[in-house]
Amino acid sequence: MKHIFFDIDRTIFNTDSWYETNRLKVVELFNSKYLTDGISTYEIFIGLLKQRGINKNTNIKKTIVELSQVLKLDEKEFLDDMIDIILTEDYTKLVYDGVFDFLEEIFGKFRVGIFSEGDPWFQNIKLDKSGLSKYFVKERKYYFKNKLVNIAALPTGCVLFDDSDKVGKAIECQRKDIIFKKVNKNYGIGEFNPVDIINEFKGMKYYE
Ligand SMILES: [Mg+2]
Repeated sequence: MKHIFFDIDRTIFNTDSWYETNRLKVVELFNSKYLTDGISTYEIFIGLLKQRGINKNTNIKKTIVELSQVLKLDEKEFLDDMIDIILTEDYTKLVYDGVFDFLEEIFGKFRVGIFSEGDPWFQNIKLDKSGLSKYFVKERKYYFKNKLVNIAALPTGCVLFDDSDKVGKAIECQRKDIIFKKVNKNYGIGEFNPVDIINEFKGMKYYE
């Protein structure tokens, strides 16, 4: 049985939509609880995040605590409030249309896995709370700080779905055995037909 691996953000999960709804929730939190001028506090908060160079490798909880210190907010309360916002999101809604159908179709026919960057704590929240985690066993959830230097971790002859051109380039240079499927971040893997993927796989020399 062969492998199909998936990136999470902008491949199976609409991360941009998550950022938009959570931005509003954080502004609302500042407005209602911490300060009267929520928008400007939010701007300061985001400014601080940017200054720190927040990216996919950021430890989210640690960063929230550090920012609460700079903003002179109660650390524990602010962390709890922010985690509350993160946890109360409707994650199922943020999975692209067609992703569940796609996974249902290939599940059992392929070993499926995750190839992702990001804070593993938060990546697992996305999978667990959306209902996606039932498709992915722990041993095949690969979380790296930098995928580009960990291309070798992918199994021989697998398919990889990812929205990143850089990952696509790295595959092209380093792993001729892998079928790279470039995902459009507006649709995710929902726009692919799983039957086509299965048929394409059957033509590969690694299929057994
Ligand atoms: Mg991505």
